[in-house]
Amino acid sequence: MSATARYDMVIVGGGMVGASLAISLAHSGLRLALIEAYAPGAESQPSYDDRAIALAYGTRRIFEATGVWPSLAELAEPIRDIHVSDRGHFGFTRLSAAEEGVPALGHVVTARELGHVLLHQMRQDASLEVIAPARVISFEDQGDQVRVEVERDGLMRSLECRLLVAADGGNSSIREQLDVPVQRWEYGQSAVVTNITPAQPHRNVAYERFTDSGPVALLPMTDQRCAVVWTVRDDQLDSTLALDDDAFLSAFQERFGYRLGRFLRVGRRAAYPLSLLRARKSVRGRVAVIGNAAHTLHPIAGQGFNLGIRDVAALAEVVDSVFRAGGDIGAAENLAVYEGWRSAEQRNVALATDALARLFSNPLVAVRLGRNLGLLAMDLLPGAKHPLARAAMGMLGRQPRLARGVPLG
Ligand SMILES: Cc1cc2nc3c(=O)[nH]c(=O)nc-3n(C[C@H](O)[C@H](O)[C@H](O)COP(=O)(O)OP(=O)(O)OC[C@H]3O[C@@H](n4cnc5c(N)ncnc54)[C@H](O)[C@@H]3O)c2cc1C
Repeated sequence: MSATARYDMVIVGGGMVGASLAISLAHSGLRLALIEAYAPGAESQPSYDDRAIALAYGTRRIFEATGVWPSLAELAEPIRDIHVSDRGHFGFTRLSAAEEGVPALGHVVTARELGHVLLHQMRQDASLEVIAPARVISFEDQGDQVRVEVERDGLMRSLECRLLVAADGGNSSIREQLDVPVQRWEYGQSAVVTNITPAQPHRNVAYERFTDSGPVALLPMTDQRCAVVWTVRDDQLDSTLALDDDAFLSAFQERFGYRLGRFLRVGRRAAYPLSLLRARKSVRGRVAVIGNAAHTLHPIAGQGFNLGIRDVAALAEVVDSVFRAGGDIGAAENLAVYEGWRSAEQRNVALATDALARLFSNPLVAVRLGRNLGLLAMDLLPGAKHPLARAAMGMLGRQPRLARGVPLG
C-alpha cells in the first residue's frame, strides 16, 4: 500500500481490552488506530463468543465514565450476593452488595453482547481509525517512534506511531517479538462453559463452589438463566463434552447440588483450556503490553477482563495527561509511570487467582479442613470479608480516575 500513515497511538487487538482502551481515549485528541484480525462484528470472533463475563463493580464505574454503561446496563444482570462454599463441607462465606453499600457487586453479560456494545461505541468516535480485518505482522522500535507493518487483503501497509499497545491476547505475537520473559503454566484443567435454567429463581446470587475435582461457578443471567463455569481435569474433558443434555444436567447437578432446585435446561457447551501466563515486564521501549497479553488468568474468580480494564484505565490516564501537557506519550519515563502503577496489582491478582484455583482443587483432607476453617472464619470475623469483597469488586489499590467514575481531561 501507499504512503506511511502516522498516528499517536496504535492498538493491536480489538478484543475487550483493546476496544475499551480506544473508547477510553475517544475525546483525548490523540490520532488513534486500532488493528484487529477479525472483521468488525464477525460472528466467529473468539473474543466475543457466548461465554458469560462477570463485570466487577469497578469495571462498571469505568464503563460509566467512558459512556459505555447505558447500552450495557440493559443487557446486564446484577450480582447482589456472592456465595462461596466447599461442596459437601461446612465452610462457606457470603459477600453482599448491601453490606458493601453498593447496588450490585458486579454484573453479568455475554462476551458477544459486550462486543456489540464496544463496537457500536467505537463507531461513534471519528478520531479512531479501525483497520480490520488486518494483522500486525511485525514492528520496529526506532527509538523516537515505532514502525508497524500491517497486512490487509494480502497487501502490506506501514504505520508509524509514538506508542504501540499490544492488546493482542494471551498468545500475543507482539509480546513474543519484544522477547519479554513470561511465567507460564498449564493447570491440566479446562473450563466447560454453558448456561442452565434452574427450577428456582437465582435471586441474583453468584455461587463459587469448590469441589474435589476443581471449582464450579454459577452466575446469574437474564431470563432466570445461570452461566456455568465448570472446571474439569483434562482427562475428563472429552467425556464431559460428549454428555447429552440430560446426562450433562444430572452430572452438573451432582457436582453443584440442589440449592437452586433441579436444573431443567442447558445450552450449548464450549471448553477453554486453562493456563496462567504473566509477563514479567509490561513495557519495553515504546511498547506497552496490556490485558490478556500481559496476564492470562484461571477464570474461576472472574478477574481476567476486570484486571485488564484497570490496565486500560491507568494507561489511558497516563497517556492523556502526558499528551495534554505536550509530552511524548511513548517516552520511557512516561511508560515507566504506567508500569510502576500496575505491576503490583497484576502480580497480586495473578498469584491470588492461582492460589485459589490450586487450593480449592486439592482433595487432601488437611487442605480441605484448612480451607473450610478459612471460609468459616471469613464469614464470622467482623471486617474479614470486606477486603475480599473489595477485591471481587476490583476496588483495591490506587484507583485510576475512570475507575472513580471521573472522565479524563
Ligand atoms: C471461560 C472463561 C470465562 C471468563 N470469565 C471472565 C469473567 O467472568 N470476568 C472477567 O473479568 N474475565 C473473564 N474471563 C477472561 C476474559 O475473557 C479475558 O480476560 C478477556 O477476554 C481478555 O481480553 P483481551 O482483549 O486482552 O484479549 P483477547 O480477547 O484475546 O483479544 C485479543 C484480540 O487481538 C486480536 N489479535 C491478535 N493478534 C493480532 C494481530 N497480530 N493483529 C491484529 N489483531 C490481533 C485477536 O483477533 C483478538 O480480537 C474469562 C475467560 C474464559 C476463558
